[in-house]
Amino acid sequence: MLLKVPTEKIPIQEIFIDKKVKLFIKREDLVHPLISGNKYWKLFHNVNNYLGIHIEDPLIITFGGAFSNHISAVSAVGKLLGVRTIGIIRGEELKDKWRDNPTLVFAFRNGMNLKFVSREEYRNKEKLSEFLQQEFPGALIVPEGGTNEDAVQGVKMMLNNETKEFDYLCTAVGTGGTIAGISKFCEGNQKVIGFKVVDDSSLQETIYQLTLKKNFNLIDSSFGGYGKIKDENIRFMNDFKEKYDIPLEPIYTGKMMQKVFELIDEGYFPEDSKILCFHTGGLQGIEGANLLLEKQNRKLII
Ligand SMILES: *Cc1c(COP(=O)(O)O)cnc(C)c1O
Repeated sequence: MLLKVPTEKIPIQEIFIDKKVKLFIKREDLVHPLISGNKYWKLFHNVNNYLGIHIEDPLIITFGGAFSNHISAVSAVGKLLGVRTIGIIRGEELKDKWRDNPTLVFAFRNGMNLKFVSREEYRNKEKLSEFLQQEFPGALIVPEGGTNEDAVQGVKMMLNNETKEFDYLCTAVGTGGTIAGISKFCEGNQKVIGFKVVDDSSLQETIYQLTLKKNFNLIDSSFGGYGKIKDENIRFMNDFKEKYDIPLEPIYTGKMMQKVFELIDEGYFPEDSKILCFHTGGLQGIEGANLLLEKQNRKLII
């Protein structure tokens, strides 16, 4: 079995904001109930190319943090396609308390073999990858966040005839694979904006190497740092959900949409611009985020 292109069209919904621009959101979060958003497309060719060759006892190994959408997605791919998976998880301390983490419990239930490594070991992922490839010569090793050439190629499937009509294409940026694919395969007249949720000065160059185009701009949207959730972020996401009935999560899509609204207010986009934001999914992360917020006696994400 392989990953399939969904037969149902991914909807593009208008967000009415009563301003001089037109704003839309493409619901890539709806691509698959368990393999969410951009991670589905980033894994698509990686997994299908590999499974096309490795018919006997395939194994997928990857890396991620405790709340990782990528870990969640890879584990679900393994379950769906009947493929063994190993997840290398950052943080040795989780060894004893991973059962309190909904993302890791989900991965475990999907049959993922979780291996916890220290932050130091994790930082040296290249060495770790080499070691794993020696230990499991037939395995597919997918990098953290799933970003590589095949991932960029997969993101092409987020674009179609309908997306060609927009002046601006917006996405949240983590490792840069998604924006690289959008930049590489969009139309020549379209501008791409990446909302950076991590503070990483090498991203501009990483993305350029993957797309080789200069049609993209990066805008800082980290709101205090990767994974940090401010009260204003929660307020924004909850208001957005009530108004438009579209859920956002706190790490990527919530911060992107909040920044897009700020840019519209500041007059960043010329009048009559047509703006498309990709909802890259990741809603599985809300449960884990709410557990942390609850412990801090803070308002929860609805
Ligand atoms: C992983 C992820 C991103 C970032 O994608 P990159 O290709 O790593 O830049 C954006 N949004 C969501 C919901 C994600 O899970």
